[in-house]
Amino acid sequence: MAARRKFIAGNWKMYTTLSEALELVTELKRLVSMARQVDIAVVPPALFVEPVSRRLMDSNIGVGVQNIYSSDFGAFTGELSARMLSGMNIGYCLAGHSERRQFFGDTDEVVNAKVKAIFAQNVTPIFCIGETLEERKSDRTFSVLSQQLTGGLADIDAEQAGGIVLAYEPVWAIGTGLTASAEQVEEVHTWLRGWLGENYGKEVAERIRIQYGGSVKPENAAELLHTPNVDGALVGGASLKADSFARIVKAGF
Ligand code: PEP
Repeated sequence: MAARRKFIAGNWKMYTTLSEALELVTELKRLVSMARQVDIAVVPPALFVEPVSRRLMDSNIGVGVQNIYSSDFGAFTGELSARMLSGMNIGYCLAGHSERRQFFGDTDEVVNAKVKAIFAQNVTPIFCIGETLEERKSDRTFSVLSQQLTGGLADIDAEQAGGIVLAYEPVWAIGTGLTASAEQVEEVHTWLRGWLGENYGKEVAERIRIQYGGSVKPENAAELLHTPNVDGALVGGASLKADSFARIVKAGF
């Protein structure tokens, strides 16, 4: 079985202006130009995707978007469709991020529609799941994850499933400075791979990359990224500084 290439993605959320975004990628491009051992992507606000990807032309850094609406056409003022990703040189699109679930009401059904719409454009979904602190404390982590997987991947066949990136992001660790321990992450990722194996077969499960996300920083990245079932990281805060994101990328070697 070929080793899974690690994949480090930086979700910038809503923190940059255009000039800050361009400054950030210009510096990042320089810092990680030799990092050919891992896959790297930045996920800027949709408005900046085009200028950022132009700046990243001929680099080893891919570009993703943070969200799309689930319909391809229609009177949905202010929304962007997956169809609009076509021809834009966009490799990835997040679906199911906990901030979308929490603040914008994205249910498992909505997330599933988004995953399908993303696949339809030959873009890779970064499908995010994770439990809240209350769910973890009441021993519901695996039932919550099971529900999110079953709902979010409904009608996704094994061939498509092999092409997703799964991001395990415990909600209690996102933007809080609290990081899950390598043992906690490995326990969940092993369980996730088991779930994928039961539902899509072992060969597909071995191929799927499972990222960890939740306060990944240069200081904890190496330990997390070298945990056996961790195939990368989805990084929020620490991806907003070129130097710290580059250090996380390098920790993945
Ligand atoms: C995220 O936004 O997906 C995330 C994991 O954020 P942070 O790294 O800041 O916790």
